[in-house]
Amino acid sequence: MTFELEKLVRENIKALKPYSSARSEFSGTAEIFLDANENSFGSPFPENFNRYPDPMQVKIKEKIGRRESVFSDGIFVGNGSDEAIDLLFRVFCRPKIDNVLICPPTYGMYEISAAINDTEVKKANLTEDFELDPQVINSVADPNTKLLFICSPNNPTGNSLDREVILEIIRKFNGIVVIDEAYVHFSGKPGFISEIENFENIVVLRTFSKAWGLAGLRVGLAFANPDIIDLFNKVKPPYNVSEIAQRAILEALENEESAAEMISAVIKQRAILAEKLSNLKFVKKIYPSDANFILVKTDRADAIYELLIAEKIVVRNRSRVEMCEGCLRITVGTEEENNSLIRALKKYEESIVY
Ligand SMILES: *Cc1c(COP(=O)(O)O)cnc(C)c1O
Repeated sequence: MTFELEKLVRENIKALKPYSSARSEFSGTAEIFLDANENSFGSPFPENFNRYPDPMQVKIKEKIGRRESVFSDGIFVGNGSDEAIDLLFRVFCRPKIDNVLICPPTYGMYEISAAINDTEVKKANLTEDFELDPQVINSVADPNTKLLFICSPNNPTGNSLDREVILEIIRKFNGIVVIDEAYVHFSGKPGFISEIENFENIVVLRTFSKAWGLAGLRVGLAFANPDIIDLFNKVKPPYNVSEIAQRAILEALENEESAAEMISAVIKQRAILAEKLSNLKFVKKIYPSDANFILVKTDRADAIYELLIAEKIVVRNRSRVEMCEGCLRITVGTEEENNSLIRALKKYEESIVY
């Protein structure tokens, strides 16, 4: 591997002088803030949000840094991990010239972000058992392949990808390997943040949307070496994480035990749900899951999807996704929600004639 960050970054980004916000230019202990055209009188309800939030989310990064044993300058906090995905394109991919590599079936946002940024997507499909194929990846990548997206545990298949294979790919790939760990908390496996000190070319994505139960806040994280994080900070909008989101994240980080309990509950329900689903006649296969959802192969996905809608239960129909034919992706719910789902599916089972 020959990794040179300088060579991967777009020239316009290297030359960019970032917007300098009022709050980032001032450092000190002032008492009267007349620098940012805020409303000094307050907000139209008891709690005040009249001040711009911390553009660098210093307190959040300190807390997360301590949890994950990394320095703050190796952490990016964004408006969902989707913001980090978009920033990767804007920093590294020259529209119409560069390309990125994805490993389908996988998360749809990589392709959407690529399309928005006018960047070609190359595909190195997962193998039949949904593992990475380093040979295919090698043969598809070219000198303009800037990013390789690896999602582990993978959405929509649910499995964690083989760690040794990922490491082998990181060692060989000349661009940035992005490891999306949105579901890693449900896997009981360590993830790749600890590998950042060994490899300059990885970006690890995490999110508060899944295990932390905070999808509505829109907060995601990227971990990488500080040179890459600097580039994200240069390109991001100055106040990309709202004050209300920052306060809530700080509070959530004080309640780690509650998050851990929810994760255990999801893992317990996942096993119960998988077992119950596997007993249904029209279920052909339950894919093993390290995530908070289960991919289920059936012989009539569309009919089941419609039936569930009629019962006011929404699942994700993935039956038209290549390699997921006949599949529904079902998020693990509460015990009651899962029971309602199984009840509806049993009723349907009794109504069909085999
Ligand atoms: C849900 C999900 C995310 C989370 O995105 P946010 O923008 O942080 O809500 C990221 N990656 C994958 C693969 C996901 O499934």
